[in-house]
Amino acid sequence: MNNKFWSDRIKDATPYVPGEQPQDKRYIKLNTNESPYPPAPAVYDALRHFDAEKLRLYPDPQQSELRTALAELFDLHKENVFVGNGSDEVLAFCFQAFFETGSEALPVLTPELGYSFYPVYADFFDVNLEKIPLNEDLSVALTDYNRPSRAVILANPNAPTALFLNNQEIEVLLKQKPDRLLIVDEAYVDFAPESAVGLLNTYDNLLIVQTFSKSRALAGLRLGYALGHPDLISALEIVRDSINSYPVDRLAQSLALASLGEGRYFAENCARIVRTREKLKEDLAKLSVECTDSQANFLWMKVPGFSGEKIYRSLKEQGILIRYFSQPALRDYVRVTIGSEEEMSQFLHAFAKLIQD
Ligand SMILES: *Cc1c(COP(=O)(O)O)cnc(C)c1O
Repeated sequence: MNNKFWSDRIKDATPYVPGEQPQDKRYIKLNTNESPYPPAPAVYDALRHFDAEKLRLYPDPQQSELRTALAELFDLHKENVFVGNGSDEVLAFCFQAFFETGSEALPVLTPELGYSFYPVYADFFDVNLEKIPLNEDLSVALTDYNRPSRAVILANPNAPTALFLNNQEIEVLLKQKPDRLLIVDEAYVDFAPESAVGLLNTYDNLLIVQTFSKSRALAGLRLGYALGHPDLISALEIVRDSINSYPVDRLAQSLALASLGEGRYFAENCARIVRTREKLKEDLAKLSVECTDSQANFLWMKVPGFSGEKIYRSLKEQGILIRYFSQPALRDYVRVTIGSEEEMSQFLHAFAKLIQD
């Protein structure tokens, strides 16, 4: 490759590799934690009635309507809300807004096994990220975070372990160091017992990041947001306005707003996915599959004697896509998104056949 025009930063970069989005044939897609259910009916209506003429004009750079609606949903103010082009963008902005660069900087702590985008951002933005090992049972080792640090970032429920920290446990991290920022990535929280949003009124060192991609079935729209103290939100705005004034386009603002009005549809679909998940956990236990007690919309499991890649290949031949990881520590596991009841019974059938043969 002729990379004489590349910057050193790009030559050294190891980018994140997203799950496959095959365009060739139809799979049962259980590999990127998307919703098996369609977006809310009001999203279809908003799309049908969207006035294309408006695309002539730039979108509202303040996203006022959408931020106000999100603020109402969480009993906050518009100034507590930042909206971005997917939560991955919001998280990337967080790395630039809050973390110092260079190996001498106080470290940012994160669980050793967590969302694999964090180390990518850390390398790219030269942030000193320190990985804290998990407990034996894959839970987050809370007391190990009580050490000199600039910030803590973690996904809750964690990815890919699917395990959840309740608010009491989140408070342990917040209280350890009141001057240390805690960023909680709640991409999967709508499938879990509670969100940490209620703690925002008590702690100014908490920033919560959520997304429309998983529980709201809008991964294709690219919308994520952060909730926190106005001073934290201002820092994110400075990063954004130093890069791109309009990361959230008109169509995204309008459709996201429509989806927020569909609380009931949203809650019913989340409940359905949780029911499907719990049923699948029981079925897998009967097959002696080791599976964590997921509070997310995916399962993290291993089958003694089978590598993740082997399971992946065999299921793919049968038209089912799941995710495996090639890092040594993750090699024995697979991650399986909770699809519809019908999809999961097909998965279970194919999976049982594979491990019993
Ligand atoms: C899916 C996911 C995201 C990214 O979501 P987008 O809003 O689609 O960018 C962020 N964090 C975690 C832990 C995720 O699993």
